[in-house]
Amino acid sequence: MSELLRVENLDKHFGGFAALSGVGLHADAGERLGIIGPNGSGKTTLINCVSGLLQPDAGRVTFGGEDITALPAHQRARLGLARSFQIPRPFAGLTLRENVAVPLEYVARRAGEAPPPGAVQVLQQVGLESRADTLARDLTQVDLRRLELARALAVRPRLLILDEVMAGLSTSEVDAILDLVLELNAGGVTVIMIEHIMHAIMRFSQRVICLDAGQVVAQGAPAAIVEDPVVRRIYLGA
Ligand code: ADP
Ligand code: MG
Repeated sequence: MSELLRVENLDKHFGGFAALSGVGLHADAGERLGIIGPNGSGKTTLINCVSGLLQPDAGRVTFGGEDITALPAHQRARLGLARSFQIPRPFAGLTLRENVAVPLEYVARRAGEAPPPGAVQVLQQVGLESRADTLARDLTQVDLRRLELARALAVRPRLLILDEVMAGLSTSEVDAILDLVLELNAGGVTVIMIEHIMHAIMRFSQRVICLDAGQVVAQGAPAAIVEDPVVRRIYLGA
């Protein structure tokens, strides 16, 4: 498999506090990579540095062979890097169609590519097409997560990074979102998923990375990760 994302030696400090220290990872095209770690271990900060919301203090991020470390978030999105937010950020007073139209507009047409899909087509990918004219504020939690996915998909990502998109959902809702994410991956999108829900990580991941205190402390196949003594001690509380 060819490599899509590479993160090397990433450091990020907030004042005197090291949120990330020397973090490195890679994701291959088509891969499903899970990221776990206790609260405050730096998962969201890592994603913020990869997506361009935060500038790291040191290190390098390469996407599709291109060094994107200095690029602003919108340019990374145009290259096909999309992320969801831990707290869903839809425009509450806009319809679902309008919510998806915003990122569609934002990415517009990339050179040499077919025109982007319509808003309803994107909503169709997440099963929300019949609610295109509903206001985002009227959605249930699980449908809000679907909308969050749709907003990320609108940029036709090559890489989709999901930050705890299943938090607060019931078991059956978690399974429904997971089914959807697996379907998107089967359609060719590389997915990195940060998640606390262990059975979701186990079912989703081909490979898992565990962060603790801003460092990668373990990585491997899901079955090996849950048996890893470091992971068991710091994350599973064993
Ligand atoms: P996780 O997503 O793994 O729960 P975060 O990346 O959100 O962890 O946070 C890692 C650490 O960095 C935490 O201790 C958090 O308090 C701190 N942190 C995150 N963002 C900021 C910020 N903007 N300013 C100061 N500290 C921050
Ligand atoms: Mg987080």
